[in-house]
Amino acid sequence: MNRRDFLQNAAAGALAAAAQSGRAAPVTSKMIGIQVGAVSFVDEGVDKVLDEFQQDAQVNTLFVATFTYGRGIAGRQVPGSPLPDHGKQEYDNGSGPGTFQGGSYTKVHPEYYKDTVLTDFRAPDFGDYDVLEAVLPAARKRGIKTICWFEDVWNDRVRNVRQAQEKHLDGSNAGTLCFNNPNYRNWLLGTVEDYARSYEIDGIMWGSERQGAFANALGSSHGGGAPSGVQRVTCFCEFCESKAKERGIDVARARTGFEALGRFLQASRGGRRPVDGYYVTIWRLMLRHPELLAWEMLWTDSLRETYAAMYNKVKSIKPSLGMGWHIWHNNSFSPIYRAEQDLSELSKYSDFLKMVMYHNCGGPRMASYIRAVGSTIYGDVPQQELLDFHYRILDYKHEKNLAEIPQAGFSADYVYQEAKRAREALTGAKTQLWPGIDIDIPTGANQSKSTPDGTKQAVLAAFRAGADGVLLSRKYSEMKLANLRGAGDAIRELNLA
Ligand SMILES: [Zn+2]
Repeated sequence: MNRRDFLQNAAAGALAAAAQSGRAAPVTSKMIGIQVGAVSFVDEGVDKVLDEFQQDAQVNTLFVATFTYGRGIAGRQVPGSPLPDHGKQEYDNGSGPGTFQGGSYTKVHPEYYKDTVLTDFRAPDFGDYDVLEAVLPAARKRGIKTICWFEDVWNDRVRNVRQAQEKHLDGSNAGTLCFNNPNYRNWLLGTVEDYARSYEIDGIMWGSERQGAFANALGSSHGGGAPSGVQRVTCFCEFCESKAKERGIDVARARTGFEALGRFLQASRGGRRPVDGYYVTIWRLMLRHPELLAWEMLWTDSLRETYAAMYNKVKSIKPSLGMGWHIWHNNSFSPIYRAEQDLSELSKYSDFLKMVMYHNCGGPRMASYIRAVGSTIYGDVPQQELLDFHYRILDYKHEKNLAEIPQAGFSADYVYQEAKRAREALTGAKTQLWPGIDIDIPTGANQSKSTPDGTKQAVLAAFRAGADGVLLSRKYSEMKLANLRGAGDAIRELNLA
């Protein structure tokens, strides 16, 4: 296909997508977003960063990391990974001012946190610095929109956090917070209210990269690793147990089911193959203990209710404010997690969805997922066969074999397939589809790395599949400028900006 044919196809695709969704969506209305943390503005200066975004990639929307205790979206480059070719050329894992600690990078307005014990979560990294106060005026002057971007990542050192944490099966506290705990639910609602009322923003995005107890026990995610047993699955707190009872789930039977699953996992870890094999035995456990699945769905429905509550809160304050979600990369690997991401459900309370389609780190992450489930539910299946099976059921047509994907990554066609699938699932919905594009997300030393052309092809594929925008991820402070410009090359080629 030559360039002109491609452009014609792209234009036709955009028109088809617009017709399909019933929106008059001129090609120029595409959302070109980038995720950026406070540290980049502090280190490099607001105007310098915005100049770079506009010149390199025609960015028209900032996704500013406003709250997290994680390094995935805040802080400088992850220590151990090479520093990019901009920003301070040192890591922020030392001590003293500027050290990455995490929390809220905006001022905390206490009136919105009266119904929660979580009131002390301001990031100390830059003193009184409020990233929205620093960035909003300059962004607005340039016609750039700003979306607050925060995630479900906490730290054990936060005051009172134990009163909001999930409980493991064994009754101990988890590091994760429970959506059914009023302290956390009210914190989430207070935070979106704080953003909506305190700042002239254009939208809010929140993300939770977690799943329920059954999927976690099976290690059904990238990085799932060898499961550490069922004693550490969540959530079995008083709020979840009482919600389970309301749904007619027998809590004692659920516990019995997870204990049985635990014995299976322990035997698997010890290399003892069940008499009838791994897959059959998992089915026997699910048939005997349907509460295993009921508990998984309890967790998933609680997340969905949290989405809906946050959405309704924002709309009650300012209907024009966009509210949407970052959907975890596990959606690209685990059929269980994918089944839980029912876009026809999610679209009811989503103005937009950032569906993660990170092509480069997708290769190593898929290999990691295959290893994890290859030691539990699919313990009898040779791992290349297991990967082929997943390619087939997840509908990936042109990805490489297991020995190659850690070094090769996934192709742009993976982005195309995922964006096309999401586009079709959102037919008739108002929800905008903004694929998350991988630019320099850290991978292992000998693993696949982002390239300018790979990034460009991923962006082209997203738009060819009918995306309403792209979100360059995960954070500017880990991106090389040449790869950011690769994304910009696609946007310029499609004449989107
Ligand atoms: Zn709970």
